[in-house]
Amino acid sequence: MFDPSDPVLKLFQDSDALLRGHFKLTSGKHSEWYFEKIRLIEKPAVMDRIIDLLAAKIRREVPDFEYIVSPAYGAIALGFLAALKLGKKFAFSQRVEEKMAFRAGFAGIEGSRAVIVEDILTTGGSLNEVVAALKEKSVDVAGIYVLVDRSGGAIPVEGKPVGSLLALKVEAFEPDVCPFCQKGLPITKPGASDKKS
Ligand SMILES: [Zn+2]
Repeated sequence: MFDPSDPVLKLFQDSDALLRGHFKLTSGKHSEWYFEKIRLIEKPAVMDRIIDLLAAKIRREVPDFEYIVSPAYGAIALGFLAALKLGKKFAFSQRVEEKMAFRAGFAGIEGSRAVIVEDILTTGGSLNEVVAALKEKSVDVAGIYVLVDRSGGAIPVEGKPVGSLLALKVEAFEPDVCPFCQKGLPITKPGASDKKS
């Protein structure tokens, strides 16, 4: 399924961020793979090497933009680090009364060109919310990037392809048809992720 020499995969696996087993996802479905982003947040040196790769990709693919934008809170560290490496400004969006928005202090993003950086793409839900919040600020979305695309490249956001360091076509099964349940493998419910992305 994977190329074991892939440097991104090796960094994720060495930091225990990419786990193989039998996991119950927040959706209730079961999966063989689980991406635990907290393992990266708590290892800045590993995150630094991963964001080097992401920043190089953005530098190659997006010629001109002013801001990196990430949704709070999980992606702030990686977006901030990417902005630092690329010499750009950084802003984050957050939910205010359920709606994704920017603090008034980020007035400078109005009318700018921005690249969105997020940790994981699963359904595209939170990325679509960030795009909507940027549209309200008349921001031109120059690119959308994630570390891990769990849709395997299948889900565009706002009609734009989403760039990723690692595209995993992860199958998720309803419990009654899960092949790992049928084999009687014990299931793990990872507890660290509390939002759907
Ligand atoms: Zn199962």
